[in-house]
Amino acid sequence: MQELTLITQEPPALALVDDPRIEAQEDVAIVYSVVVPMLNEQGTVGALGLRLAQVMDELAEPSEVILVDDGSTDGTYPLMLELRARDPRFKVISFSRNFGHQVAITAGLDAAAGKAIVIMDGDLQHPPELVHEMVARWNEGYEIVYGVQVARTGQSFAKRSTASLFYRLLRVSTQIQAPAGAGDFRLVDRSALEAFKALREGNRFVRGMWDWIGFKQFGIPYTPPERYEGKPKYSARKLLRLALDGILSFSNLPLRAALTVGTVVSLLSFALGLSALGSRLLGQHLVPGWTTLMLVTSFGIGIQLIVLGVLGEYIGRIYEEVKARPIYIARARHGLVGRAVPARAAIVDDV
Ligand code: UDP
Ligand code: MG
Repeated sequence: MQELTLITQEPPALALVDDPRIEAQEDVAIVYSVVVPMLNEQGTVGALGLRLAQVMDELAEPSEVILVDDGSTDGTYPLMLELRARDPRFKVISFSRNFGHQVAITAGLDAAAGKAIVIMDGDLQHPPELVHEMVARWNEGYEIVYGVQVARTGQSFAKRSTASLFYRLLRVSTQIQAPAGAGDFRLVDRSALEAFKALREGNRFVRGMWDWIGFKQFGIPYTPPERYEGKPKYSARKLLRLALDGILSFSNLPLRAALTVGTVVSLLSFALGLSALGSRLLGQHLVPGWTTLMLVTSFGIGIQLIVLGVLGEYIGRIYEEVKARPIYIARARHGLVGRAVPARAAIVDDV
């Protein structure tokens, strides 16, 4: 409960940004925006702030960092506001609850004013210094410059192999051709971002969406360091959900597979029926055959349930999209007054 009172406190930074017009004028000049989603990263906010401030100092043109607090229950949000109080180039968005990494990225992108926008994780596994290399490629004319992890350090064999299996599955079942190491760490040009912002689906697999919109893309290899502090915030459940979103929102292949399997099973059972009928007509007595019967029945039921499950996954997603609820609810945005709010976004307070 203590965190709750901290979160609802009036931040001291407010006094620094009390004139929205000044803020809006500054927005026009911003060239680089960095979007960082964070969930319970209180041990990293300070170090991340220092490294990002350094990168912003090195960039020749005006820049901003948009920190998105994805419903943290620790001190992440107050620490973000502290960072902002010291350096107003840091903007903060705070969600009313945990909406998930992909949605947090979306909220940051919705608010970004830059001509080049960078997305990076908040645990320093996406080295902020790589931004310079991305910017160099952007200056060469690439509209999307994504990082490709070369060696996934600090990851278990199980996680590595499921990840590579998932990307293979993704490539065969969808049009997404992203290599296994290409994640959310990337720089995108304003034009690509405007295209991305037109995709307002609720079930979001952001890296696939970049692939889907097209544009001129370039991959930069990098070696991710260990997480700066704490444990990964992606639970096994959240990862599974992300994987399902990735495949189901970019492919109808599971539906078509269900049809194929259903057809094959129907043909098999038709053949079996014919043979049973034949045996009957030939006067063979068929009381034995209990095993076959049980096998066929349970196999049939199993297939039907799987197919129903696949249908259910799609119907559930259709239901969510039809409701067209906001993709996220931001309890507050700090330093982003005057920025347009796209469809399916709810901003409660802009300060
Ligand atoms: N994250 C988030 N919301 C979530 C889960 C994670 O904003 O529901 C953030 C997290 O704080 C981190 C980034 O997303 O900045 C990547 O998460 P994590 O490091 O746990 O994932 P991994 O590196 O294991 O893929
Ligand atoms: Mg991480």
